[in-house]
Amino acid sequence: MGNGTCTSRQGLENMLSRAQGSHDLTRGEIVNLLALTDSCEVEALYVAADRVRREHVGDDIFLRGIIEFSSHCRNNCLYCGLRRDNTGLERYRIPDDEIVDLARSMEREGCTTVVLQSGEDPFYTRDRMCAIISRIKGETSLAVTLSLGERTFEDYRAFRLSGADRYLLRHESASRPLYASLCPGRTLDDRIRCLEWLRELGYETGSGFMVGLPGQTVEDLADDVILIRELGADMVGIGPFIPHAQTPLGAHPAGDVNLVLKTVAVVRMVTRDANIPATTALGVLDKQSRKRAFHAGANVYMPVFTPQSYAKDYEIYPGKGLVSSDARKSLDAYREFFSSMGRPVGRGKGGRPGFQEKGTVCEKKTVG
Ligand code: SF4
Repeated sequence: MGNGTCTSRQGLENMLSRAQGSHDLTRGEIVNLLALTDSCEVEALYVAADRVRREHVGDDIFLRGIIEFSSHCRNNCLYCGLRRDNTGLERYRIPDDEIVDLARSMEREGCTTVVLQSGEDPFYTRDRMCAIISRIKGETSLAVTLSLGERTFEDYRAFRLSGADRYLLRHESASRPLYASLCPGRTLDDRIRCLEWLRELGYETGSGFMVGLPGQTVEDLADDVILIRELGADMVGIGPFIPHAQTPLGAHPAGDVNLVLKTVAVVRMVTRDANIPATTALGVLDKQSRKRAFHAGANVYMPVFTPQSYAKDYEIYPGKGLVSSDARKSLDAYREFFSSMGRPVGRGKGGRPGFQEKGTVCEKKTVG
């Protein structure tokens, strides 16, 4: 392995063993784990992460059904096909009644959580979102996860009061220069402030980041892992960068799936009981890698319930619409795969076992 804390296989085993206990990995140790190239050592990392997963979140795999209900976005992230300057994309909004119907159908198929995801679309005012959340909470027993981007504190508070349980907001990159270059007009500090608000409001809060961004180093990735630990993220989504031809980063190579898998394993070691999905983006680059993620620390599968007539235009990266369609159709195949690993589909809501509300939605706050 690379230079640094671990200089031998035995050193690696010792460090992984300590990390399974109470030892918090240092930045240097994280860098070394991410830089592993020897296949036996990488396997040792996966085995350790899988053990931590079993010990802290058990064998259950939870299904979170995603509805990508709007492809409109006011932002212009350089890596994303939904960016506002991409005029070659058909934009859509799924009617509210259809969103609620889709939530009902995913409950019938065994999902216990609905993830409502969109670009940052001001059409969905506070009142409109609250009405959708309230209907889903009233008509199903699903946990509701939101993934709507940056909103005001009062919006987040109103959504929580309407029944939203969780919120996903990836920080994308903990490197300030990288973040600033990728997300014009936005700052990492604003992103982190939103994540802190969400925690204050009692949401189970998810973050995450991309692997393989142009200019990103292994040290940058270690900082991503450390930020996840500092944020106390309850859910962590990690996917490869995938170039989209209609974006300024269209000519850059995609992220390395093996580095994504190592990052998943390290995040499992560091967070212990966080919920970690095998992301759709991983499946776009390599279907088998998505399955391998379940041996490297992942415990959540997120089938996409966006109807194909819309999903083909939710093209954050190329191929996403196709996998979305495939993912829904292959839910049964994934069940068989989980069963072959001896991993049952979770029946409850699948919240983070150690989750403790950090605040209350009734607290007053004047900012935002
Ligand atoms: S990454 Fe999110 S905020 Fe950025 S352009 Fe894409 S949908 Fe919009």
